[in-house]
Amino acid sequence: MSQQKGQIGVTTENIFPVIKKFLYSDHEIFLRELVSNAVDATQKIRALGSFGEYKGELGELRVSVSIDPEKGTLTVSDHGIGMTADDIDKYINQIAFSGAEEFLNKYKDTAATIIGHFGLGFYSAFMVAKKVEIVSLSYKDGAEAVRWECDGSPEYTMEPAERNERGTDIILHIDDESRKFLERAEIEGLLKKYCRFLPVPVVFGKEQEWKDGKMTDTDRDNVVNNTEPEWTKKPSELKDADYIRFYHELYPGQDDPLFWIHLNVDYPFTLTGILFFPKIKNNFDVTRNRIQLYCNQVYVTDSVEGVVPEFMMLLQGVIDSPDIPLNVSRSYLQSDTAVKKISGYITKKVASRLEELFKADRADFEHKWDDIKIFIEYGMLTDEKFFESAKKFALIKDTEGRYYTFDEYRTLVESAQTDKDGNVVYLYTTDPTSQYSYIKAATDRGYDVMVMDGQLDSHFVGLLESKLEKTRCVRVDSDVVDRLIPKADDNKHHVDLTPVQRDMLTALFRRATPKVDKTEFVVTFEAISAEANPVILTQNEYMRRMKEMAAVQGGMAFYGELPDSYNMIVNTEAPVVKKIRQEADAELLPVVAPFQDEIDRLNADLKTLRESAPDGKLTDEQKGRSTDLEQKIAAARNDIDRKAAEWADGKPLVKQVIDLALLANGLLRGESLSEFVARSVKML
Ligand code: ADP
Repeated sequence: MSQQKGQIGVTTENIFPVIKKFLYSDHEIFLRELVSNAVDATQKIRALGSFGEYKGELGELRVSVSIDPEKGTLTVSDHGIGMTADDIDKYINQIAFSGAEEFLNKYKDTAATIIGHFGLGFYSAFMVAKKVEIVSLSYKDGAEAVRWECDGSPEYTMEPAERNERGTDIILHIDDESRKFLERAEIEGLLKKYCRFLPVPVVFGKEQEWKDGKMTDTDRDNVVNNTEPEWTKKPSELKDADYIRFYHELYPGQDDPLFWIHLNVDYPFTLTGILFFPKIKNNFDVTRNRIQLYCNQVYVTDSVEGVVPEFMMLLQGVIDSPDIPLNVSRSYLQSDTAVKKISGYITKKVASRLEELFKADRADFEHKWDDIKIFIEYGMLTDEKFFESAKKFALIKDTEGRYYTFDEYRTLVESAQTDKDGNVVYLYTTDPTSQYSYIKAATDRGYDVMVMDGQLDSHFVGLLESKLEKTRCVRVDSDVVDRLIPKADDNKHHVDLTPVQRDMLTALFRRATPKVDKTEFVVTFEAISAEANPVILTQNEYMRRMKEMAAVQGGMAFYGELPDSYNMIVNTEAPVVKKIRQEADAELLPVVAPFQDEIDRLNADLKTLRESAPDGKLTDEQKGRSTDLEQKIAAARNDIDRKAAEWADGKPLVKQVIDLALLANGLLRGESLSEFVARSVKML
């Protein structure tokens, strides 16, 4: 052939500036494109050989990547099918491409999509090269070697070349801004990223070793990839140890995975892969060690949003599908129907595999439950379909460390924990240690208490309520045990207190309560039982949930600002409280009673005054008297408080019973705690 000159057949004036501009952030993918082309060419010759269409020697089928910093070149070589001048004309010169400009305008932001779709892979070389050469010899009988050259303008030259071996060299003359692609470490890193599991060995220089104080080349080829990753094999060929080894190859330095799911489907789309359930620690970082997406063993991305349902982002592993467009952009992926189907399939597959594991070895499943529960709960919370499948194997753990399915749990608690309205009340604890006394009170009563101490459990409790019929969830410390599950409308805890006794005792207990930061206590009196604790702190379920929600989502700041409010329930049946009451009645009541009498009198006056005014309108003089009376009442109340306080200061017992309750709730800290200890020692 003679030298040929021509114009590359794209419809737009000059495609290269466009490529450079729009693909700016993704420059490095040129290497993936060129190496994948070389691998394709290699697999094609192998295929032709096996069909008998190519009868020559296959030779050593490898792809090699090399750099020459002095010449400023990067070369990708293969022993694949090669190209004739005609092939180059057809595949390289005539970029099959219509309405390029229009397309580029439309997809400016997601330009990476263009590459794979429009067969622009080869041209991505111009993102980093000022000149590209192709030297190739086709496998076809009598083919002549050919050299193609182009400097990034739409003009190319093509001429005969010297080359005896079948295959192709793609030689990039790296431009000045891209010189980092001439560094060994950079290329090694990119090959590790994109080519790690390509199906043909990819060689990059020689293996190196430490010798005479520096890294030196050995004579062994540096093969950068594992050509037969586990996901390409049949599950029946693999042992547990193989999966675990592969997991560590993917994610070095991690604990062993809990289990895995080998995906393998060829209809209605092709997809293989292995998903691992990692051992999730508290500080689990979802942005690292993510699921990797491959297309015929070519790494595409680890942004799998869209392909994998959101909740599976917690899993690790590999998904490989030629049906996922190679150059994916997120917005593109999410709108793609094939991709949606894939996501649905993965959900189904993961759910059925979990069910299988649950059925096959329940003990083992229970053993792993605490580690996988965050994942399953996340799925159930965010994916309706997954909830439906998972409710068969999702487990509820109770404070005894026993595990139940939803159905089993219902059966367990139904009879004892149904309230007067026919709701089954599920009791739960968020912290078995600090809520121990409440749990004990509940279990002594024959109730069961679920452990809900995971990161997602506060949401999960809400989900249980909304999904399970006639079910309420109540935290075990949200009320005294008798009222956790209201059985009848009677008020058997009613305490007979005169107003003055109530005021006096309230003042007494308030006075004896130490200050706890951002916390307030509302004192109430109830005749619970002689065995129950003298003072019990409870937290209203509704308010607590509101505060918890405020902590994780915006727009609810109001609830977040509120102090923690506890009910301080004084159990008037407890012997020690009885004793305090008797003493207070004997010693304090005579002191405060006159003040209370005065308050009663003042109140009566106030009432008469208000009633005397027609339609509630007071004259100025009346208003003055009313204010005066109100001030006097307040002063008298203050006197009661003061007297109660003086008396309380001499009664360590009151402080003691309150401090014990605070202690049981982890609220006794710092100075208050050391005072408590000192007082206890004294009392002993
Ligand atoms: P795509 O690979 O998406 O088809 P490319 O622009 O990367 O688009 O390549 C265009 C075509 O050029 C390929 O389909 C192939 O026929 C040919 N080609 C590219 N690189 C090689 C190679 N190393 N050996 C043989 N043929 C090649």
